[in-house]
Amino acid sequence: MNSQQILDLYTWAPGVCFQHPDAGAIETTVVQELRTRLGPVEGIRACPSCILAMEARRQCLAAEAGVVYEPGHAGAPL
Ligand SMILES: [Zn+2]
Repeated sequence: MNSQQILDLYTWAPGVCFQHPDAGAIETTVVQELRTRLGPVEGIRACPSCILAMEARRQCLAAEAGVVYEPGHAGAPL
């Protein structure tokens, strides 16, 4: 699976990447949802380069753990 195919697994919308807040509103996807005590769910957003870095790390961890790597879940541990 190439980088574009991995990125295609996500839904993209303008937002602020949690690792690159200085970049302002860029193309991002929600990797994790935060439930706050006040109710509304706030999404943690990541840009394409962060998603690819997270996916590469997940692929490594999955290989080390001997489990099948499934792209498209950057917010999940494996
Ligand atoms: Zn980023």
